[in-house]
Formats: sequence, structure tokens, C-alpha cells
Amino acid sequence: MGLSDKDRYGTAMAAAPVFLEHPSSLEHDTGPHPEQPARITAIQEELAARGGLGYERLESPAVERDVLLRVHPESYVASIEAVSARGGGHLDLDTVMSAASFDAALHAAGGAVRLVEMLVAGEVPTGFSAHRPPGHHASADRAMGFCLFNNIAVAARHAIDGLGLGRVLILDWDVHHGNGTHDIFYRDDDVLFISIHQYPLYPGTGRTNEVGTGAGRGYTVNLPVPPGSGDATYASLVRDVVAPLARAYEPELVLLSAGYDAHIEDPLAECHMTDDGFARLTQMMRSVCADELEVPLGAVLEGGYALGALGRGVAVTLEGLSGSSGVASGPDDDGVPVAPEAHAARERLAEFWPQL
Ligand SMILES: [Zn+2]
Repeated sequence: MGLSDKDRYGTAMAAAPVFLEHPSSLEHDTGPHPEQPARITAIQEELAARGGLGYERLESPAVERDVLLRVHPESYVASIEAVSARGGGHLDLDTVMSAASFDAALHAAGGAVRLVEMLVAGEVPTGFSAHRPPGHHASADRAMGFCLFNNIAVAARHAIDGLGLGRVLILDWDVHHGNGTHDIFYRDDDVLFISIHQYPLYPGTGRTNEVGTGAGRGYTVNLPVPPGSGDATYASLVRDVVAPLARAYEPELVLLSAGYDAHIEDPLAECHMTDDGFARLTQMMRSVCADELEVPLGAVLEGGYALGALGRGVAVTLEGLSGSSGVASGPDDDGVPVAPEAHAARERLAEFWPQL
């Protein structure tokens, strides 16, 4: 860690932001399936079309076994490995593996872990880990919802147990509830997990009264939104709930579970986010993290099944993370009214977060 917080974001920092990827993401063969290799290709093509956006592209390592085992039991990892070893198969109705899927999953987790290591060491200003399979539906011992290992949870746990951080904030804006991440950190106060998701929708969890348990009470924050919710609702939730929570929690690292299936073009959900909405969410998070809290911020890919919207969504996130987007939008941007969902959440959260 030799860099002060100021240096981390200061103009003296020469390192480019990083885009982590691995060819194995294209080999995870799901057959005819919305979670398909073309998702990664769409992102890569959009990035290339925009001249790389100033990101250095890095090949992700496979996750180290002991790092993976901090979240997933050995028996579970062995069971996933065994499915690939026998050529693949269905884990449930939605979640399918091929012979190459285990290796892809190791690199998807490894990319998220490597990103966190670089962020915490102050080696890079920000970054995006773009792999498949996604991770946020995977609990410690169960694959579901296209997810095998919970990439962001493995990375966050590594930040704490491996790198010595005390507080990590995860914002999950994938349109589906991040039930796996929610479960993994439900008893913990060293990860503040915040999920904005359409409700009702798969997987059916993420109600407002699911707040964590034991030491973790108040450190799981579910922000369900109804079908049809769009840019204004999401922006208000980030400005009026997520940003104040971040100020109160004072995380040492902030990670985005970045899914793009809340986009109006997405076939799997009914939210109405636009490209500009995702740009704005990222800009607000960058403003809070870089300008106010001076903590590193990175993103890990989750869902997003409209290929064009996915590519554009990742691109505007990359711009927002690095501060290269043209539209300035601070956390106190007053361009949108306070959403009813945000107002209700603040009232609910006063029990745990009186400073909001
Ligand atoms: Zn999703």
C-alpha cells in the first residue's frame, strides 16, 4: 500500500485503469442460452470501437485455491470441477456447464481478486473485471442463476482476510437480487452489501426486511424496485441511500456488482434504465469514492443480456469509473426528485444508520 489516498487519485498517478479479461470466458459453453459467449464479445467490440477508453487490458489469472476456499467449501469446488471433468451438465434449470466452465469460473473469480489486489495496493486508479460466468447468485455451496463461484464475494473476502481491510462496500445494481452475495455476508459487518433489484423477479429474495443477522444486522440493505423503474429511481437510490450509507460506513474499498439487465432493452427483466442512467450511477459512485471518501472503486461484471445495451453499459461504466465521461454528475445532483423507494429506505434504515 505505499500510496496515500491522495496519490491514489492524484494527477501524479501514471497507471492506467485496467480491464481484466480472459479467453476462457468464451469457452464456457452454455448452448442456446442468454448467458452466452457473445456477451463478452459484445463488450470487447464496444471497447475497441471506442478506442479502448484509456484502459489497459490484462489477462486474469485463475483464482488461487485458498482464496476461493475462503468463500466456497472444498466439497463444493470439487463438485463443480467434477461436472466439467465429465464434460458438463445442468446444475439446475438455468445453470449449465461445459467441459471448459470450471476453468472459466476460476478465471472469473481470479479476475475479480486480481482487480481488488491492484486497487488495494494503489497500483491502478480503478478497473473492471469482465468475465463469465457471472457470480452474484452463487452462494457458498450452491450454483444457481447462471453463476458458479461468487466472484465479487471471493474478491471482497480476500480484501478482508487476505489484504487486511476492515470494511468493504458492495453495491449490486444488477436487476436481479444478488442473493448469493447477500447470503455469504448476511452475518458480517465487514461487508456492507447493498442491492438494487426489480421485485418481484427471480430469484424472489431481497425483501426490505432482510437486513442481516447477528453482527451483520443493518449491513445488508435491500432496495427492491417495481417493474418499470428507470434512471430516475436508480439515481435517487444511489444519491439518497447508497451515497449516504457509504459516507456513514466509511468503506476502505467499494465494489460494484455491475449487471446491465435493468436496461430497457434487456429481455430478462422489466426495468427501464438507459445508457445515460448507467453512466450517471457510475459517475455518482466515482464522485463519492474518489472525491469524498478517497477510497478505491472497481466493478465486476454480472448480468446483462441485450448484447448492444450490455456493451454500451460497460463502456459508459468504464468512462464513469475513470472520470473520462463528459457529463459531470456529483452525488448531490438535484436533477431528479427523491424516489418513494429512497424515502422509505431512509426511514427504514434509521434504526441502523441514524446518521443518514
Ligand atoms: Zn441479473
